[in-house]
Amino acid sequence: MSNYYHELAAKLFDDIEKDTADSAGVSRPAYSDIETRTLAYLEAFAKENGLASCSDAAGNLIFSRPENIDAKEYILIGSHADSVPQGGNYDGLAGIIAGLLCLLKASETSATFKHPVKVMALRGEESAWFGPCYISSKALLGQLSADELSSKHKSDGRTLREHMEAVGIDTAPIAEQKPLLASEEVLQYIELHIEQGPLLVEKKIPAAVVSGIRGNFRHKRIRCVGEAGHSGAVPRAYRKDAVMAFADLMTRLDESWLTILQKGNDLVLTSGMMGTEPAKHAMTRIPDEVGFSLDIRSQSSHVLEAMKLMLRGEMATISLDRGVRFEMDEEHSVAPALCDPQIVEGLSEAMQATGREPFVMASGAGHDAAVFANSGIPTGMIFVRNRNGSHNPLEAMEISDFMVGTEILFQYLTE
Ligand SMILES: [Zn+2]
Repeated sequence: MSNYYHELAAKLFDDIEKDTADSAGVSRPAYSDIETRTLAYLEAFAKENGLASCSDAAGNLIFSRPENIDAKEYILIGSHADSVPQGGNYDGLAGIIAGLLCLLKASETSATFKHPVKVMALRGEESAWFGPCYISSKALLGQLSADELSSKHKSDGRTLREHMEAVGIDTAPIAEQKPLLASEEVLQYIELHIEQGPLLVEKKIPAAVVSGIRGNFRHKRIRCVGEAGHSGAVPRAYRKDAVMAFADLMTRLDESWLTILQKGNDLVLTSGMMGTEPAKHAMTRIPDEVGFSLDIRSQSSHVLEAMKLMLRGEMATISLDRGVRFEMDEEHSVAPALCDPQIVEGLSEAMQATGREPFVMASGAGHDAAVFANSGIPTGMIFVRNRNGSHNPLEAMEISDFMVGTEILFQYLTE
């Protein structure tokens, strides 16, 4: 893509960053006036450049070339306009701008799309504001639950439903879980997104094709309960040390993790919160209790099921060895979402055609694409290299890397 598009992209990112700046990074709350303003800015830009636009019943904006706005079979390019509080400017926005640039380039060159293309700027993807994630895409596909609709905003306490109504969305059909989108009209859903991990930076690759989005199962607080005692007085054989038992569990999970990777399977595993009871713990007290979280993710539902069984098996063994017991809290889980193999292949070919070695990787973070994929719509994703992680103000994507990703998308849509 020429320098013209590079500069245009830089200006769009810049204008929106200035308009939505917070004391650090940007804040574009889901279903807020700021989010509406971002959509209005993008709509004005699209109009100035001869593109058509309309809103849908979930308050999202749709852009296309004028002749395609009513197309009944189309490829949908989407991503989200909202951000986390004090987040980075590129998370979500990159996918919308990439889609807009593809529409523009197709209008300004003789290239034709294989299928009509619509670009969607989605509202409300981030879970940071109300708790539930992928709000807009779930609403579109009739999957937003009553519980989710009545979840409360993190700071003003008003419900999601009230916030949706405040930006002009009729929530009655959403509450009845009526699909707002004719999903049979969507031939494919494609999302370009910044990578939110370090892989592309480490590998020195500007963009990649995504094979799928990891599913997960999570426990917020598992308790391991043993027996307290004097740290100097109780010999090893008589101890029921909860922290030692927790350490055993982590070592065993880590060993299994390595084995699973060596067999070519996908897995990541984190215990991000753990601690003994501050009210009673002491340096000289054998800990009788430790609480910890577990977040286990994989692209494979088989691996996730195997990990659930293994977790329980290891807990049972350690309980016998160490004289402790594990008490599980409620499990939360999300199914993995696989990208469509033909789209993965098509995007890889597009990557090759733009002069780059195809590179395919898993997405560790969740995206709207997961909702579309799990609703049976063939889905694909492109990742763009990004430094310093995401969901923070230091997020850093080079516009030149963004243009590589956008070019792969354009090539795929037009080849
Ligand atoms: Zn995102």
